[in-house]
Amino acid sequence: MELRRTKILATIGPASDSPEMLRQLFQTGVTACRLNFSHGTHGDHAARIAKIRQVADEMGIAVPIVMDLCGPKVRTDTKTYDLVVGDTWRLVPIEGDPSQGKIGISHPTLAKLVPPGQPIVLDDGHLELVVTAIEGDDIVCKVVTGGHLKSRKSVNTPDCDNGLDVLSEKDKKDLIFGRDQGLDWVAVSFVRHGADIQSVREHLASIGWPDPPIIAKIETPLAVQALDDIVRLSDGIMVARGDLGIECPIESVPILQKRAVRLAHRAAKLCVVATQMLDSMERNPRPTRAEASDVANAVFEGAQVVMLSGETAGGQHPLAAVQTMDRILRGAEAVTDTPPTLPEISNQTMEIVAGSVRLSEHTKAPCIAIFCHTMEIARQIAGFHCGAHVIAACFDEQIYRQVSLFYGIIPFRLPRTNSIDEAITRVLDEIQERNLGAAGDRIVFMYSQPFGTRLHNTIRLVQMP
Ligand code: PEP
Repeated sequence: MELRRTKILATIGPASDSPEMLRQLFQTGVTACRLNFSHGTHGDHAARIAKIRQVADEMGIAVPIVMDLCGPKVRTDTKTYDLVVGDTWRLVPIEGDPSQGKIGISHPTLAKLVPPGQPIVLDDGHLELVVTAIEGDDIVCKVVTGGHLKSRKSVNTPDCDNGLDVLSEKDKKDLIFGRDQGLDWVAVSFVRHGADIQSVREHLASIGWPDPPIIAKIETPLAVQALDDIVRLSDGIMVARGDLGIECPIESVPILQKRAVRLAHRAAKLCVVATQMLDSMERNPRPTRAEASDVANAVFEGAQVVMLSGETAGGQHPLAAVQTMDRILRGAEAVTDTPPTLPEISNQTMEIVAGSVRLSEHTKAPCIAIFCHTMEIARQIAGFHCGAHVIAACFDEQIYRQVSLFYGIIPFRLPRTNSIDEAITRVLDEIQERNLGAAGDRIVFMYSQPFGTRLHNTIRLVQMP
């Protein structure tokens, strides 16, 4: 069967964290695991990480783990409330009291930031208030969409920066945990500006974790405005449609998705399309037609990764969801031969990458082989969505896992060597073993001379023996 190029990032939770289920998910097509730090304790995450790694090792495959930070999310307190349309309630920065019409929220100074007329959306969009007045630290609101408000539900203030640091105190503790566990990618929630990415990088360096690749989650109107900067400063983006659809008008979500995917693609950055892709499969064994189209359209637009959230974390059919997603991706890939745009050629390495992709097309090479001393060259070539398989030989265990998230990258571990001829021989053996090429086929190799330096400056065509 043809290898699938689009990667599946599956959120791991109670429905998917047994070794048996993980094994089946990886066999069926899950490329990478997402741990959502909005839920669970460090103990829960540590147990899941251990199981993911154990199963990946047993299967001899690379399974990167993405830690998805909670971010500066404002929540209601632990009480429950019944909100009736037209009633007045106060949001207060202390514990609330339903009998006094007060709802506690986890932001000490939100009253200083929201003007009268500001919509406030609760519980992922299920309930809506509008600010009518500010009285000291209290935000006086009228209920626009009512209902039962359960404990610890989200509080969104669309179009209004809630002023909180992009990393909460909890995120900082979680990052120490992620560093100690050697996690592979970090997804940052509620990014608003490019400066947020810089401050996350500074924080990571300050805790002695200088280089995990960063995925910026695009989920606020401010992030949409700063998209160019955010794409430039991060290693990838995630179109996080859950919060995006709360913070922005719902009709703008498909348009923003298209724009974000295109920008990431132009910059050869990782691009994940996330949330509700097969939502109905949390409950049903088959998806809706609209969901099938959504997954396929993400491929047509140029997404590198598609994500499953509740479908695999807590749903009733985690395996069927992955099987279905795999089939839809294969179907879409089979009819998509060119990416919607090509990455910008902005430096010499990109010239070399573009040259090797062109050469593989002209020579009908089944594979391009790269040597990943860092993650960069895999990132750059993935942006071309080329027809040839990209064999990424990695000398380092973590880079081996990290690069496997990129579109079309097939990673494999190579013992460290200073000899390019030895490395080429090993790669040719691997191609033959995996049936990705046969005697007489030409393979495009791209590497640096002297071998191991960062700057890729050489393309070589080698015939399979
Ligand atoms: C989202 O909002 O779409 C998302 C992926 O983030 P989270 O699941 O953390 O809300």
